[in-house]
Amino acid sequence: MQTLGNYINNEAVASQSGRTAEVFNPATGEPSLNVALSTADETRGAIAAAAEALKTWSKVTPLNRARILFKFKALIEEHADELAEMITSEHGKVFSDAKGELTRGLEVVEFACGIPHLLKGEHSLNVGRGVDSYSKMQPVGVCAGISPFNFPAMVPMWMFPIAIACGNTFVMKPSEKDPSTTYRLAELLAEAGLPKGVFNIVNGDKEAVDVLLTDDRIAAVSFVGSTPVAEYIYKTASEHGKRVQALGGAKNHMVVMPDADPEQVVGSLMGAAYGSAGERCMAISVAVCVGDEVADTLIEKLKTEIGTMRVGPGIGLPEEAHMGPLISRQHADKVKGYIDSGVEEGASLVADGRKFVYEGHENGYFVGPTLFDNVKPGMRIYDEEIFGPVLSVVRVDSYAEAVRLINEHEYGNGTAIFTRDGDSARQFCEEIEVGMVGVNVPIPVPMAFHSFGGWKRSLFGPLHMHGPDGVRFYTKMKTITARWPTGLRAGAEFSMPTMK
Ligand code: NAD
Repeated sequence: MQTLGNYINNEAVASQSGRTAEVFNPATGEPSLNVALSTADETRGAIAAAAEALKTWSKVTPLNRARILFKFKALIEEHADELAEMITSEHGKVFSDAKGELTRGLEVVEFACGIPHLLKGEHSLNVGRGVDSYSKMQPVGVCAGISPFNFPAMVPMWMFPIAIACGNTFVMKPSEKDPSTTYRLAELLAEAGLPKGVFNIVNGDKEAVDVLLTDDRIAAVSFVGSTPVAEYIYKTASEHGKRVQALGGAKNHMVVMPDADPEQVVGSLMGAAYGSAGERCMAISVAVCVGDEVADTLIEKLKTEIGTMRVGPGIGLPEEAHMGPLISRQHADKVKGYIDSGVEEGASLVADGRKFVYEGHENGYFVGPTLFDNVKPGMRIYDEEIFGPVLSVVRVDSYAEAVRLINEHEYGNGTAIFTRDGDSARQFCEEIEVGMVGVNVPIPVPMAFHSFGGWKRSLFGPLHMHGPDGVRFYTKMKTITARWPTGLRAGAEFSMPTMK
């Protein structure tokens, strides 16, 4: 079986570590590839390549950097089917969903193509008499990215297009569970004309990551993954003087008000809960129904819809499945374990996906759509992130109780309210302690020209990903205050300067 190594200085570099991990096709359970788990020294080698490239890349004009990204965008479009097939074969999500992920990543590339405009900075004339002030947004240096398995194209593209557009160089450590797509993107960047060393890939695990968090040559670290690892990344890299943005896990609630349109709620909820088999950080995993009537209607409709769902391999069926397998055998077992715990802790199991098998793919990592009613805080299925196709319905008596539940949860990534009342929606947007909020929109993922990030234990660090925050994260602001000779002739000033 082929072993995927590293990609450094625009070349494939085999790893000598002797350690590898197997990559599987989740629909069949068959291994498809080995991926290298690089050594600390190999990781340092990638950083050295990026540090060398920084000397020239940071001096390339923003316009010329953008021109390479325009070519990269065209190449992604040209290879969209190939990339989406790669995502499906290693991640398991259905092909149309893989294409959707690719599009959302591509949009960040499109945003980064506007970098000459984005780097214009601030300028004030006459901040004092004859004194002007302006800012320069300069590259921070060598940046590192560490990404999760669930978006092997989109999440890396939240990071590196903006980083390199700003004049930085980059070392990426993709998820070892589905590394091929990010690797292919690196090849396409080289084909687009990106100079060697500007974007490098080190495949690996904790050994490689720890070097990226501690090596003096790394200036900034972007991470997306689970909360315990995000917290570790944030602490370790911060202690080593780096700027860090570390996005973590989620438990996203959708509030269903009594005046919401039931058809709209059910359609939205099905896609948001079960799309990508629930392996999205913005998936809705809790529906909070205000009033028993709302809950009863919803449960009935969801039960019917679940009965019509097609679960199967993500590609190659005459009619595409709605939902594919989970990423790994261990993860499928973990999700089934959560369903067991929900039953043991007293929640009502309405639809049970534990026994689902796709005929002919008995070793695939499938779990069917699962629905619980009467879920309460304190149950593991409510408190913890499951990251699978398991939707919990929580019943509350009032809007205020729904808001309290969400605000008391440790995560604060995304949330939504479904209502026809503008006043409730507006109040919800005001008081909810969550970073991304949807009003009758179940998965409110901000577009590339806005920034993506949660609150509470869903994000460590002050700046969100992509959009304006992305540009701020990958640049150092320098503010220049300039006065020309008339001022200098006035002689020395010994008191604290204030503008006159
Ligand atoms: P993970 O935390 O297991 O892994 C993420 C990355 O960290 C991988 O590249 C992995 O190799 C590396 N890693 C894992 N353990 C490490 C350790 N001990 N030390 C150093 N590096 C380590 O996450 P995952 O299972 O790949 O992804 C799923 C998680 O990601 C979910 O919790 C999901 O909510 C979260 N996620 C969050 C967002 C967001 O925007 N907030 C987006 C996507 C995924």
